[in-house]
Amino acid sequence: MTVARTWFEFDNSYARELPSLSVPWTAAPAPAPELLVLNEELAAELGIDAAVLREPTGVSALVGHGLPDGVTPVAQAYAGHQFGGYQPRLGDGRALLLGEVVDVAGRRRDVHLKGSGRTPFARGGDGKAAVGPMLREYLIAEAMHGLGIPTTRALSVVATGEQVQREWGPLRGAVLCRVAASHLRVGTFQYAAASGDRDVLRALADHAIARHHPEAAAAADPYLELYRRVVHAQAGLVARWMLVGFVHGVMNTDNTTISGETIDYGPCAFMDAYDPATVFSSIDHGGRYAFGNQPAVAQWNLARLAEALLPLIDGNGDAAVEAATAVLGEFADSYQRHWAEGMAAKLGLTAPDPVLVTDLLELMRAQRVDFTSFFRALSAESARSLFTEPEPFDAWAARREALLPADRPGVAAAMNRVNPVYIPRNHHVEDALATAAAGDMAPLRRLLDVVSKPYQERPGLEDHAGPAPVGRAPHVTYCGT
Ligand code: AMP
Ligand code: MG
Repeated sequence: MTVARTWFEFDNSYARELPSLSVPWTAAPAPAPELLVLNEELAAELGIDAAVLREPTGVSALVGHGLPDGVTPVAQAYAGHQFGGYQPRLGDGRALLLGEVVDVAGRRRDVHLKGSGRTPFARGGDGKAAVGPMLREYLIAEAMHGLGIPTTRALSVVATGEQVQREWGPLRGAVLCRVAASHLRVGTFQYAAASGDRDVLRALADHAIARHHPEAAAAADPYLELYRRVVHAQAGLVARWMLVGFVHGVMNTDNTTISGETIDYGPCAFMDAYDPATVFSSIDHGGRYAFGNQPAVAQWNLARLAEALLPLIDGNGDAAVEAATAVLGEFADSYQRHWAEGMAAKLGLTAPDPVLVTDLLELMRAQRVDFTSFFRALSAESARSLFTEPEPFDAWAARREALLPADRPGVAAAMNRVNPVYIPRNHHVEDALATAAAGDMAPLRRLLDVVSKPYQERPGLEDHAGPAPVGRAPHVTYCGT
């Protein structure tokens, strides 16, 4: 049995190895910190006793105060393309990296605060965050984790006891404590490249290789191999989003990780009726980050990573461009393979059938069929009832039927292992967050429980297994809160 640590033993390899890519900083005061939610499972993974985090000293630490001697939080620097426009200096405007913890499985993980006050990267912002958006990040990250999709996770949300001012009035302030494989982003590389100091860029790439893609170190061209691994990690990640109907909402290059984890849950949501044009974010007017655009956007972001890495890939600019372009070209195949295999599993098929999938999606789009419900209904042989005009579905179902293996119960069981019953339905998310912001955490806790075991059908949760009742307004989510 391992003995739980009484406190984190922080390392700070990022700050130490890359001093020009962060600024030491301290968290703003939190007048009356109150722990709203603590992720006990994650605390255990980090090897820390949850009871310690619930004590006043633990809660203080979760907003960045009373840290042990020698722990120096830093605000990380990064650049990024936001909605296509390049911003040379973004960085942690309201966030701090407390340090890195090696977890019980030996993985190095960042412990990071969001909403901890203004930093030198705050630009016009107040450095703060509100309870609702931080709980939303906690909830959606846990849902993604439950679905088996690589993601940062939330350890805690602590209300600060102060109010933050937003367009729509004062809100309760909060700090989220987030755990990530790292906070290295495409934007971190853009920032390092723009510094013009090749040694900084190389140090960053070496750090990323050591931390996330150590096999690349042994390759003939380690930096090109790092790039290849990020390309494949992102292709796999976005395919998994597409297989569950997840819309990230703000796929800027500063929200694209080198680790391949999903990061920064802002105006994200899960699609109900299948439609590639689905957009939830109130600020995504052009639909740049619509559901169906996500693979292309990921590839675009990875092209920006290539540009940043060029000086390391080859001293000769043309040769570097050629090599990086060839690797970026692997994205499409990698994505298609993940997607096609994933869809085959969702449909209970032993081999991908792209035409069958395309035809199904067109039917679902035309008849506005709920994406999540469909696949469970298919394994239960009740999918026909989801179509207002069932005849085209019947024809499609007959084609699928001909491809199914003989062991039908086995097929259904396998489908149910990859098709969630429960996703965080937008109307439930909004209701739970509104209630939590008003002080009652019970509905949010219940929803966390529902989405943390998404593949296991449980009695009493029928209300979570389908879309919002007809008549509830289309869902919009707000960013920058
Ligand atoms: P995000 O939309 O959370 O990915 O943030 C994009 C950029 O805006 C990052 O540089 C954030 O640190 C910064 N930012 C977002 N909200 C605030 C805020 N309230 N105060 C300061 N900076 C912020
Ligand atoms: Mg961000």
